[in-house]
Amino acid sequence: MQVKRVDFLLTFKCPSKCKHCSYKGGPERSGYMKLVDAERYLQVLTDAHPLQSITVHGGEPFVYFENLKQIMKRAKELEVPRRWVITNGYWAKTKEVAKEKLIELKEAGLMCITFSVDSFHQEYIPLENVKNGIEVATTVGFERVVVDSLFLGSLNSDNFYNNLTRRVLENLGELGEVEINRGQVDFEGRAAEFLASYVESKAEIPRGRCQLPFWIGGDLKNPEGIEIDFEGNVTLCPGICIGNTKTQSLTQILEGYDCLEHPILSILSEEGPIGLFKVAIEKGFNQNAKFIDECHLCYEVRKFARRYYPQHLAPENCY
Ligand code: SF4
Repeated sequence: MQVKRVDFLLTFKCPSKCKHCSYKGGPERSGYMKLVDAERYLQVLTDAHPLQSITVHGGEPFVYFENLKQIMKRAKELEVPRRWVITNGYWAKTKEVAKEKLIELKEAGLMCITFSVDSFHQEYIPLENVKNGIEVATTVGFERVVVDSLFLGSLNSDNFYNNLTRRVLENLGELGEVEINRGQVDFEGRAAEFLASYVESKAEIPRGRCQLPFWIGGDLKNPEGIEIDFEGNVTLCPGICIGNTKTQSLTQILEGYDCLEHPILSILSEEGPIGLFKVAIEKGFNQNAKFIDECHLCYEVRKFARRYYPQHLAPENCY
């Protein structure tokens, strides 16, 4: 596999506990990616791969600000062309604090920043903090400042969370140069538990193929990106693990990658999520269950199957 994009999941700790979080981040989580591990991954990916970008997120990466800063510094030294962070902005309690942190990060090497702003995050994070962060981010010289907002179902569908997100975006006010990305919640992790009932399920079992998340890109045979979490899991989609750097080197994992050798990805590649569903039914999965889309089906079946494939369906907190 040749990696063009890498996401570091610096931690799953987060002051927020959003209902849509695929990784079930929260204040009770602990652990973070050690700098020595991050540096080793970056070295491998810049030595032997056409790495174009690194994005650090979590959890909330600003909880481990020093590590975030050092990772950006190392990525800059290794000339990773694009260096990005995704945050909920909780830390921008005043404009002065925001300025101090963002200038430090900019000097370390950060180029682009995304703020998550929607009804899910604003249940926990004061909008004033995020406004401070966004406003200051537009003044310190980042290449891109982006607001990501997630919706349940289609972007114009009318439900409690979407209506709240629209109001939150209105309350952000005039944002000038800031890009606003409106996306859809994936029904995995907490979203499958708490939010699936807000969206209508399909009458039939979804039969489409697997399209890897846009931030991974490529396809199952030739994925273009990976995520690495602080526990060493290398994943292609939240909860689908192709190896762990605590037991194998990243080089071995990437050189040895073959989706047809992976018990879950091989089925996804040949038949799509419905293939997983058929196998799961034989093991006792509820054949009358309903799903919103292919990824929701995939997630629910994986959650059921995790007892059989704990190393391949990791990290555990996705389930
Ligand atoms: S949830 Fe399953 S079907 Fe959807 S992108 Fe991920 S691996 Fe593919």
